[in-house]
Amino acid sequence: MIITIDGPAGSGKSTVARLLAQRLNVGFLDTGAMYRAVALAVLNAATDENDRSAVAQIARGLTISFDKDRLLLNKQDVTSEVRTPEVTAISSIIASNPIVRERLVELQRDIGKLGSMVTEGRDQGTVVFPDAEHKFFVKADLEARARRRQRELAYKGVVQSIRVVMDQLRQRDERDETREHAPMIPAKNAIVVDTSDLSIAQVVEMLIDRIQGRKP
Ligand code: C5P
Repeated sequence: MIITIDGPAGSGKSTVARLLAQRLNVGFLDTGAMYRAVALAVLNAATDENDRSAVAQIARGLTISFDKDRLLLNKQDVTSEVRTPEVTAISSIIASNPIVRERLVELQRDIGKLGSMVTEGRDQGTVVFPDAEHKFFVKADLEARARRRQRELAYKGVVQSIRVVMDQLRQRDERDETREHAPMIPAKNAIVVDTSDLSIAQVVEMLIDRIQGRKP
């Protein structure tokens, strides 16, 4: 069984997807981490993120894998490194590169063959797993998402104004929504959940109800 959760940054989808996978006792795939890993490789190679052919070449030559909840880039643990503001800033540029997407989509489908999982990203219900059994699109208003992101950053010791966080999210959403390949949109048969005024626990319960058929 494949369950897809797509949606914009800060919508709470990662936390919800992780908890849902635990509750259902199935695998969990964070596809954003994979795009971040390519972004990190591009930064490490001091390559211009807008140079599509150079980025494609980097993407073709690297290996990305998971070891439980650790993300490995060329067998090195980069779980924390991919969460820096520098990586976040270029990740959506890297993700607009069709060669990068092609590689990662293939990898994601291979992981999907291993067994049941909850997979989260931007294109999981539309492009990667169009036949998934359950599809959700999790959204929240910009300010609610920015407040959540600001709290996450503060937890890591990074202080940023709400305006700056909102601008960064807006810019990333716009790139993700308007790109030519696999833009971020709800799949036609996805259930759209607005999490602006809901707790993570409430969203998880709502999704479980849907999956177990307790709600139409
Ligand atoms: O979800 P997260 O914020 O970690 O994703 C980082 C970036 O990777 C997003 O801004 C988006 O551009 C890209 N992404 C994507 N498709 C996915 C997952 C992430 O384009 N399935």
